[in-house]
Amino acid sequence: MSLLTSARFHTTVAALAQLPRDGLVELAFVGRSNAGKSTAINVLCNRKRLAFSSRTPGRTQALNYFAVGPTDQPIAYLVDTPGYGYASAPLETKRTWDTLAGQYLQARTQLAGVVLLADIRRQLTDLDRKLIEWIPSQVRLVVTLTKSDKLPRQQASTALRSVRSELQRLRPQSPDTVLLFSALNRSGRDELSALVEEWIGQSSQAASAGPAAVSPDTATPGPAASG
Ligand code: GDP
Repeated sequence: MSLLTSARFHTTVAALAQLPRDGLVELAFVGRSNAGKSTAINVLCNRKRLAFSSRTPGRTQALNYFAVGPTDQPIAYLVDTPGYGYASAPLETKRTWDTLAGQYLQARTQLAGVVLLADIRRQLTDLDRKLIEWIPSQVRLVVTLTKSDKLPRQQASTALRSVRSELQRLRPQSPDTVLLFSALNRSGRDELSALVEEWIGQSSQAASAGPAAVSPDTATPGPAASG
């Protein structure tokens, strides 16, 4: 059984001051609204409604923490971040994204990896690129091209290659991964699950050495501000 199937809701964080202080390894899931992020989290964790897609775009501006591992001794958190990129989202919502999720990604010491979900038909957008630039180079990144069932196999492979080379340009120092994923036919699920579990395994020991928090006063404009 996959470690990720043990995922259960832990807490909602609406401000940086509320971030957990237990030092556990964290893996963040990020993506434009409608990229398929909640669906992918639910497929990975083999649950129907662990992560919810927001019915009102851009409204849910919080980090949702899910614990994995034994109930009495969780070993890591999966962190669902608010979807970004809704042009119609109010400015206030975009600012909240930057100061919470943006700050979190740039400075969270326990962050071992980021799973960026992007619709294969759109590939990477400017907002995704900006977000990628924020991710510290030592933090692992996997770009997961969702809804791969929507394209013929050859077009999907072309998209995969194109995003791979773009990622190499954006983060030349980092051994990032790009995967095809479909919630519909479950392709890519085992690869993504194995990767995330590998990151958790590699990082949990180091991260549990001591608690750390991000500093709330280093905010910079981020993807949502320009969406
Ligand atoms: P979120 O806003 O990123 O959390 O996106 P959702 O997970 O709510 O997905 C947005 C829409 O895309 C929903 O209608 C999903 O049913 C659909 N969707 C998500 N993943 C897939 C997939 O792999 N294949 C197909 N065909 N549709 C998908």
